[in-house]
Amino acid sequence: MANFSLDKILRANVKKLIPYSSARSEFEGEAQVFLDANENSLGSPLNENFHRYPDPLQKELKQKISSLKHTNPENIFIGNGSDEAIDLLIRAFCKPANDNILIFPPTYGMYEVSAAVNDIETKKILLTKDFELNTNEIKNQIDINTKLIFVCSPNNPTGNSFNESDIESILKIFNGLVIIDEAYIDFSKKGSWLKKLNDHPNLVVLQTLSKAWALAGLRIGLAFASKKIIDILNKIKPPYNISSVTQRLAYQVLCNKKEADKKIKIINQEKELLKTAFKAFGFITTVYSSDANFLLIKVNNAGKLYKFLLVQNIVVRNRSNQPLCENCLRVTIGTPAENIQLLQALKSFSE
Ligand SMILES: *Cc1c(COP(=O)(O)O)cnc(C)c1O
Repeated sequence: MANFSLDKILRANVKKLIPYSSARSEFEGEAQVFLDANENSLGSPLNENFHRYPDPLQKELKQKISSLKHTNPENIFIGNGSDEAIDLLIRAFCKPANDNILIFPPTYGMYEVSAAVNDIETKKILLTKDFELNTNEIKNQIDINTKLIFVCSPNNPTGNSFNESDIESILKIFNGLVIIDEAYIDFSKKGSWLKKLNDHPNLVVLQTLSKAWALAGLRIGLAFASKKIIDILNKIKPPYNISSVTQRLAYQVLCNKKEADKKIKIINQEKELLKTAFKAFGFITTVYSSDANFLLIKVNNAGKLYKFLLVQNIVVRNRSNQPLCENCLRVTIGTPAENIQLLQALKSFSE
């Protein structure tokens, strides 16, 4: 173990693949007349023109992300949501009907779905009762066909971040990629794994603009890793995976970090208020601590409370069918007014 070689885990067909070469990547210079991409040169029937293909490698947006995250642009991949990055990682490194990935339920559902679509087995090792990684069992379950390990930290739906030294020990012994999904990292006081990229050639960090940056509708997911890994993802991605509108709007939003930080602060304050208020209700038996923008609560009868809230026009997520989450609801932190509405609804609930 601990003899990581990217070349060894890369699928042979991907290694020898000659990627599609788009008009926009074959010619990148300045010109006035573009007759190379079969675009409609007469323009879009709109006030604004979208008749040109977007930058396939999103250079300006990566420059912006790079200055915010203190990483090089060559260490950044931008996907149509994190889900695209998850899918591409599986396709690049896992051979269908042969390889497997490890996940640690209860956790985000897309790793397993994406694996299943690609005919990849998902091996599951449950978290411990206090939602920590079961490192001994994880190490036992790694076999020669295990190519990827997905660690969601802060974890969805439990809300906690995992013990750093547990993650570190997996990074050290595993010869495949460890993908740390940090979708909620901006709500957390604990640091990102981004600063450890240079220490671990097998580390991939996923982030997203869907949560703290409030851009779920735009679909921007980020993967950070060594240049070698990023080059592989770029090689197999659809050439124009991020639209020009998305690139431009995301750039504008990232220029306004102050605004995003203000909202993160409000969400975290509201989270503390809700947490305290939840504890006063007898039917809420546990409020789990959360580094994210949601709270997981255990109640006496999750199905009943879920339906009651629905009647009050409030939708939360019933996670009761997830392992270790019996009678648990996941509640996203709303606006201050929405949170008051939620508390009022809870006050009128009787078992
Ligand atoms: C919300 C979420 C994402 C974000 O996915 P996008 O496709 O970027 O919107 C990723 N991972 C986890 C664990 C999430 O909860």
